[in-house]
Amino acid sequence: MSNFPDNKILIATHNNGKLEEFKQILKDLDLLILSSKDLNLDEPKETEDTFIGNARLKSRISCNKSKLPCLGDDSGLEVHALGNQPGVYTADWAYTKNGRDFNQAMNRVWNELKKSKQKEPFTANFVCTLVLTFPNGNEKIFEGRASGIITWPMRGIGGHGYDPIFIPDGYNKTFGEMSDLEKNKISHRNKALKKFISFYNDYNN
Ligand code: IMP
Repeated sequence: MSNFPDNKILIATHNNGKLEEFKQILKDLDLLILSSKDLNLDEPKETEDTFIGNARLKSRISCNKSKLPCLGDDSGLEVHALGNQPGVYTADWAYTKNGRDFNQAMNRVWNELKKSKQKEPFTANFVCTLVLTFPNGNEKIFEGRASGIITWPMRGIGGHGYDPIFIPDGYNKTFGEMSDLEKNKISHRNKALKKFISFYNDYNN
Protein backbone atom coordinates (compact mmCIF):
# COMPACT_ATOMS: atom_id res chain seq x y z
CA MET A 1 0.00 0.00 0.00
CA SER A 2 1.25 3.50 -0.76
CA ASN A 3 2.47 5.58 2.16
CA PHE A 4 0.70 8.48 0.53
CA PRO A 5 -2.98 7.45 0.70
CA ASP A 6 -5.03 9.01 -2.14
CA ASN A 7 -1.69 10.46 -3.32
CA LYS A 8 -2.10 13.41 -0.98
CA ILE A 9 0.54 15.39 0.82
CA LEU A 10 0.11 18.38 3.09
CA ILE A 11 2.62 21.23 3.03
CA ALA A 12 2.65 22.83 6.48
CA THR A 13 3.00 26.45 5.47
CA HIS A 14 0.92 29.62 5.34
CA ASN A 15 3.54 31.36 3.20
CA ASN A 16 2.17 31.68 -0.36
CA GLY A 17 5.58 32.38 -1.88
CA LYS A 18 6.99 29.18 -0.45
CA LEU A 19 3.89 27.16 -1.34
CA GLU A 20 4.08 28.19 -5.01
CA GLU A 21 7.71 27.07 -5.07
CA PHE A 22 6.78 23.69 -3.56
CA LYS A 23 4.03 23.23 -6.15
CA GLN A 24 6.27 24.11 -9.05
CA ILE A 25 9.15 21.89 -7.96
CA LEU A 26 6.83 18.92 -7.18
CA LYS A 27 4.63 19.35 -10.26
CA ASP A 28 5.80 16.16 -12.01
CA LEU A 29 4.92 13.90 -9.08
CA ASP A 30 1.56 12.19 -8.99
CA LEU A 31 0.72 13.97 -5.73
CA LEU A 32 -2.15 16.24 -4.76
CA ILE A 33 -0.55 19.09 -2.83
CA LEU A 34 -2.61 20.60 -0.04
CA SER A 35 -1.54 23.41 2.27
CA SER A 36 -2.34 24.27 5.88
CA LYS A 37 -4.48 27.13 4.59
CA ASP A 38 -6.56 24.71 2.44
CA LEU A 39 -7.39 22.73 5.59
CA ASN A 40 -7.84 25.79 7.84
CA LEU A 41 -5.05 24.66 10.14
CA ASP A 42 -3.53 27.27 12.44
CA GLU A 43 0.06 28.34 11.97
CA PRO A 44 1.99 27.08 15.02
CA LYS A 45 4.46 29.40 16.76
CA GLU A 46 8.07 28.60 15.88
CA THR A 47 9.34 28.05 19.40
CA GLU A 48 12.46 25.97 18.62
CA ASP A 49 15.95 27.36 18.07
CA THR A 50 16.95 25.07 15.17
CA PHE A 51 15.63 24.71 11.62
CA ILE A 52 14.96 21.01 12.19
CA GLY A 53 13.16 21.72 15.46
CA ASN A 54 10.77 24.21 13.85
CA ALA A 55 10.23 22.12 10.70
CA ARG A 56 9.45 19.09 12.88
CA LEU A 57 7.05 21.08 15.04
CA LYS A 58 5.08 22.34 12.01
CA SER A 59 5.12 18.92 10.36
CA ARG A 60 3.99 16.93 13.41
CA ILE A 61 1.17 19.28 14.41
CA SER A 62 -0.23 19.39 10.87
CA CYS A 63 0.12 15.62 10.44
CA ASN A 64 -1.69 14.94 13.72
CA LYS A 65 -4.55 17.22 12.74
CA SER A 66 -4.90 16.14 9.11
CA LYS A 67 -3.84 12.46 9.34
CA LEU A 68 -1.97 13.05 6.07
CA PRO A 69 1.75 12.71 5.35
CA CYS A 70 3.00 16.19 5.99
CA LEU A 71 6.05 18.19 4.93
CA GLY A 72 7.05 20.91 7.36
CA ASP A 73 9.64 23.41 6.23
CA ASP A 74 11.80 25.86 8.05
CA SER A 75 14.14 28.06 6.12
CA GLY A 76 16.24 31.13 6.54
CA LEU A 77 19.20 33.23 5.58
CA GLU A 78 22.62 32.79 7.19
CA VAL A 79 24.93 35.78 6.70
CA HIS A 80 28.45 34.68 7.57
CA ALA A 81 29.80 38.08 8.70
CA LEU A 82 26.86 38.25 11.12
CA GLY A 83 27.66 34.90 12.73
CA ASN A 84 25.02 33.18 10.55
CA GLN A 85 22.25 35.53 11.64
CA PRO A 86 19.35 35.97 11.10
CA GLY A 87 19.30 32.16 10.70
CA VAL A 88 16.39 30.57 12.46
CA TYR A 89 15.07 34.09 13.21
CA THR A 90 14.91 35.17 9.55
CA ALA A 91 11.14 35.66 9.53
CA ASP A 92 11.30 37.47 12.90
CA TRP A 93 13.55 40.20 11.50
CA ALA A 94 10.62 41.15 9.27
CA TYR A 95 8.20 41.41 12.20
CA THR A 96 6.17 44.62 12.67
CA LYS A 97 2.95 45.05 14.57
CA ASN A 98 1.18 45.32 11.20
CA GLY A 99 2.59 42.11 9.76
CA ARG A 100 5.88 41.21 8.04
CA ASP A 101 7.94 43.89 6.34
CA PHE A 102 10.84 42.49 4.32
CA ASN A 103 12.12 45.95 3.36
CA GLN A 104 12.73 46.51 7.05
CA ALA A 105 14.36 43.06 7.37
CA MET A 106 16.70 43.59 4.39
CA ASN A 107 17.65 47.06 5.68
CA ARG A 108 18.51 45.50 9.03
CA VAL A 109 20.80 42.94 7.33
CA TRP A 110 22.58 45.71 5.47
CA ASN A 111 22.86 48.00 8.52
CA GLU A 112 24.27 45.19 10.64
CA LEU A 113 26.79 44.38 7.90
CA LYS A 114 27.93 48.01 7.78
CA LYS A 115 28.21 48.03 11.59
CA SER A 116 30.24 44.79 11.50
CA LYS A 117 33.06 46.64 9.67
CA GLN A 118 33.77 43.45 7.72
CA LYS A 119 34.71 43.67 4.07
CA GLU A 120 32.74 42.66 0.98
CA PRO A 121 31.95 40.17 -0.44
CA PHE A 122 29.45 39.36 2.27
CA THR A 123 28.99 35.62 1.80
CA ALA A 124 25.72 34.03 2.86
CA ASN A 125 23.54 31.03 2.28
CA PHE A 126 19.88 30.17 2.39
CA VAL A 127 18.96 26.93 4.17
CA CYS A 128 15.83 24.85 3.75
CA THR A 129 15.10 22.02 6.16
CA LEU A 130 12.17 19.74 5.49
CA VAL A 131 10.70 17.22 7.91
CA LEU A 132 8.28 14.67 6.45
CA THR A 133 6.01 13.11 9.09
CA PHE A 134 3.76 10.13 8.43
CA PRO A 135 0.61 9.49 10.47
CA ASN A 136 2.33 6.45 12.07
CA GLY A 137 4.98 8.80 13.50
CA ASN A 138 7.80 7.92 11.09
CA GLU A 139 9.81 10.86 9.85
CA LYS A 140 12.43 11.74 7.22
CA ILE A 141 14.60 14.84 7.04
CA PHE A 142 15.83 16.56 3.86
CA GLU A 143 18.08 19.62 3.72
CA GLY A 144 19.24 21.99 0.97
CA ARG A 145 21.49 25.06 0.83
CA ALA A 146 22.07 27.81 -1.74
CA SER A 147 25.31 29.79 -1.37
CA GLY A 148 25.90 33.34 -2.57
CA ILE A 149 26.54 36.91 -1.47
CA ILE A 150 24.52 39.77 -0.04
CA THR A 151 24.28 42.82 -2.32
CA TRP A 152 22.97 46.36 -1.83
CA PRO A 153 20.75 48.08 -2.90
CA MET A 154 17.88 45.63 -3.34
CA ARG A 155 17.37 44.44 -6.90
CA GLY A 156 14.35 42.81 -8.51
CA ILE A 157 10.71 42.40 -7.69
CA GLY A 158 10.37 38.63 -8.13
CA GLY A 159 10.33 35.94 -5.49
CA HIS A 160 9.68 36.72 -1.85
CA GLY A 161 11.35 37.49 1.45
CA TYR A 162 15.04 38.42 1.14
CA ASP A 163 15.35 37.54 -2.58
CA PRO A 164 16.26 41.12 -3.71
CA ILE A 165 19.56 41.16 -1.74
CA PHE A 166 20.82 37.62 -2.45
CA ILE A 167 22.99 36.82 -5.49
CA PRO A 168 23.54 33.06 -5.82
CA ASP A 169 27.03 31.79 -6.68
CA GLY A 170 27.69 31.69 -10.43
CA TYR A 171 25.20 34.49 -11.25
CA ASN A 172 25.29 38.28 -11.33
CA LYS A 173 21.62 38.82 -10.60
CA THR A 174 19.63 38.44 -7.40
CA PHE A 175 16.98 35.81 -6.75
CA GLY A 176 14.56 38.75 -6.99
CA GLU A 177 15.66 39.41 -10.58
CA MET A 178 15.18 35.78 -11.65
CA SER A 179 12.05 34.18 -13.02
CA ASP A 180 10.42 31.70 -10.65
CA LEU A 181 11.56 28.91 -12.94
CA GLU A 182 15.17 30.05 -12.88
CA LYS A 183 15.26 30.46 -9.09
CA ASN A 184 13.50 27.16 -8.49
CA LYS A 185 16.20 25.28 -10.41
CA ILE A 186 18.96 26.35 -8.02
CA SER A 187 17.31 27.30 -4.74
CA HIS A 188 17.82 25.75 -1.32
CA ARG A 189 14.20 24.60 -1.47
CA ASN A 190 14.84 22.89 -4.80
CA LYS A 191 17.84 21.06 -3.37
CA ALA A 192 15.90 19.85 -0.32
CA LEU A 193 12.85 18.90 -2.41
CA LYS A 194 14.98 16.98 -4.94
CA LYS A 195 16.04 14.76 -2.01
CA PHE A 196 12.38 14.35 -1.06
CA ILE A 197 11.51 13.49 -4.70
CA SER A 198 14.08 10.70 -4.87
CA PHE A 199 12.83 9.35 -1.52
CA TYR A 200 9.24 9.48 -2.85
CA ASN A 201 10.17 7.75 -6.10
CA ASP A 202 12.06 4.99 -4.25
CA TYR A 203 9.17 4.55 -1.83
CA ASN A 204 6.49 4.30 -4.49
CA ASN A 205 8.28 2.08 -6.98
P1 IMP B 1 9.92 30.30 7.94
O1 IMP B 1 10.59 29.15 7.24
O2 IMP B 1 8.47 30.37 7.69
O3 IMP B 1 10.34 30.45 9.36
O4 IMP B 1 10.44 31.61 7.24
C1 IMP B 1 11.76 31.82 6.98
C2 IMP B 1 11.96 33.16 6.34
O5 IMP B 1 13.13 33.01 5.56
C3 IMP B 1 10.86 33.55 5.40
O6 IMP B 1 9.97 34.42 5.99
C4 IMP B 1 11.61 34.28 4.30
O7 IMP B 1 11.65 35.61 4.61
C5 IMP B 1 13.01 33.75 4.40
N1 IMP B 1 13.22 32.89 3.24
C6 IMP B 1 13.15 31.55 3.19
N2 IMP B 1 13.35 31.12 1.94
C7 IMP B 1 13.55 32.21 1.19
C8 IMP B 1 13.79 32.42 -0.19
O8 IMP B 1 13.80 31.50 -1.01
N3 IMP B 1 13.95 33.69 -0.57
C9 IMP B 1 13.89 34.73 0.30
N4 IMP B 1 13.64 34.61 1.57
C10 IMP B 1 13.48 33.35 2.02
